[in-house]
Amino acid sequence: MRYDFGIDIGGTNIDVGLVKEHETVVSRRNIKTQQHIDPKSAIEVITASMIEQMDKFGLTSSDISSIGIGITGIIDHDKGILQWSPNLVWKDLHFSEEFEGRLGIKTVVENDANAAAIGEFFLGAGRGAVSSILVTLGTGIGGGFVNKGILYKGINGSEVEIGHMVINKGGRECHCGRKGCFERYASASGLKITIQEKMAEYEDSLMWTLEDGDATKVSTHTAFDAAALGDQAAKEALELYYDDLALGLTNVINIFQPDMVILSGGLTNVGEELMIPVRERVAKEVYSKNTDKNASIRVATLGNDTGILGAANIIRARED
Ligand SMILES: [Zn+2]
Repeated sequence: MRYDFGIDIGGTNIDVGLVKEHETVVSRRNIKTQQHIDPKSAIEVITASMIEQMDKFGLTSSDISSIGIGITGIIDHDKGILQWSPNLVWKDLHFSEEFEGRLGIKTVVENDANAAAIGEFFLGAGRGAVSSILVTLGTGIGGGFVNKGILYKGINGSEVEIGHMVINKGGRECHCGRKGCFERYASASGLKITIQEKMAEYEDSLMWTLEDGDATKVSTHTAFDAAALGDQAAKEALELYYDDLALGLTNVINIFQPDMVILSGGLTNVGEELMIPVRERVAKEVYSKNTDKNASIRVATLGNDTGILGAANIIRARED
């Protein structure tokens, strides 16, 4: 029997899970990040949680094949170091050294988008694919590219930074210093801006009524709800959003030619309402449209287990 630990460290929660045979979460513990915001304290409490879970199943360190950590931030993959996490304000954390020293278990680290991409490739929507790219639609847009089971890595801790591909020259300002980046339009935050712009254009839009006359209350659902009731401004906002998302995805497909593009994030909960118009647009635009094989675009399937399962499978996606 094979066991690995998968640890997902985010700004709000740290999830520590014991995973059997790469794919079954047999136990999990949740730790509130803010209660252990000092990284040394976080490492202590994570270690204690792993020991407690091993004890529960009668396991020792020698029964565990790896500890995988997915964390928001910039990673030195080879050394297993978190170089910098703006969300957590953690810097130069030697995770591999810390956990290998405490438990004697090989420890590998990736950023959370890459860990999720690995999880989806092996166990989620990408199961059976030769290559898949995960595109996360959240506050920004993250991505991870897994080709033949191996995670693609940049030379410096940055990866496939899909979110910072310019799709509108001179467009909305981005924190990276450029203007018109994909994530400023096609992330959940980007959609909110597009909705607010349409509301400003249409004073009589139903979206004003839905949000009590306050444009700052807008969520991504505002447009889907209002469009379902026939609101013109909402329909236009969504059309613009589908155009922007499809534009960026087409670029990504043209460059990598993966057999699967997997979208994740709360926004994808609307399902086919989003996926159908995006697939239609990409199919018309993509360079390889006249060939037999083209990337399929799907929604991620691992849900709440993505963080733990992705992290527990990091070791499988290494070249060494
Ligand atoms: Zn940018």
